[in-house]
Amino acid sequence: MTVTLPASRVADARAFAECLVPGRRICITTHVNPDGDGLGSEVGLVHLLKARGVDAVITNPSPTPERYRFLFADLPGVDKTPEAVKELRKADLILVLDISDVGRLGMLSQTVLERGVPVACIDHHVSQGHLPDGPRYVDPEASATGELIFQLAHANGWPLTPLAARALYVAILTDTGAFRFSNTRPSVLRTAAALLETGLDPEQIYLDVYANAPEGRTRLVAETLQTLVVEGESGLAWVTVPPGALERYGATADDLDGIVEHPRSIAGVRMALLFREIAAGRIKVSLRSVGNVDVAAFAKPFGGGGHTKASGLSVEASMAEAQAQVLQAARAYLAGAGG
Ligand code: 5GP
Ligand code: MN
Repeated sequence: MTVTLPASRVADARAFAECLVPGRRICITTHVNPDGDGLGSEVGLVHLLKARGVDAVITNPSPTPERYRFLFADLPGVDKTPEAVKELRKADLILVLDISDVGRLGMLSQTVLERGVPVACIDHHVSQGHLPDGPRYVDPEASATGELIFQLAHANGWPLTPLAARALYVAILTDTGAFRFSNTRPSVLRTAAALLETGLDPEQIYLDVYANAPEGRTRLVAETLQTLVVEGESGLAWVTVPPGALERYGATADDLDGIVEHPRSIAGVRMALLFREIAAGRIKVSLRSVGNVDVAAFAKPFGGGGHTKASGLSVEASMAEAQAQVLQAARAYLAGAGG
């Protein structure tokens, strides 16, 4: 399968690659609670760089969820997340993947802001944020940051090894909802085909990512879905993670991935929300939309962002206050210009 890129993208990808040279200390990082796209993009890029004699380490603000650890089995010593701050202090280049806003780097934000080294970024979010200056390879039309890493390899003639391809396939698989969401453009399937052609087993990747779950995940999903509220007249549906549920099931934030697709799947729903307490008095809201409702724009006044149909925000409030505030805003949004 051949993937063709517009000449301007090829030029941008070649210009970007100039920052990825041997001898530099490169730290790659992504957003808090990393997902399949953040981690798959990091691992894919590390394999591509290693093959070219460029060393890089991964320094994330949150630990790698169990679900994605298989990606790291072939990369001993590369995940330096437990020593992220120490590693970032030695870096000549910081490369931020799958986010354009320093605020989403959690406890690493301050170090990244203070270092004074170039901060490169590869990202596909529509929401603009702030990062210190450095090279950029950004395209909000891309399905996943993993697709942009594929483009980088393609434009620069870097050979795709099966391990790099597997990681990038995971990135695209997870950010397209397994090739179901509106970002599954023809070019995405061409890219996925090129990745599979390196000899990947798609069923094994499905099993690794989606069918190797601890029992607690299904119990957590079951308990959370019990909280479903559907408001037919406004087009809203939401679920709430019960207090202490993650702890009770030995679960992590990663185990919540995909739950919000259930309220979204109900006929007539235009905006689906998942509420959970991430710290005392801090509530995180995951938002998904159907049709032309722009949830990135909805999240913006709350200091959140993301993509048109998948975004997030957090508010300083009790659960009851956060729900009152966000749901009130959502009803008004759907009834007005946003709907
Ligand atoms: P999720 O709901 O799966 O955590 O996130 C969905 C999308 O929204 C992702 O693209 C993620 O990067 C973005 N997102 C989630 N939470 C926040 C947030 O608090 N701020 C911003 N700017 N984006 C978020
Ligand atoms: Mn992504």
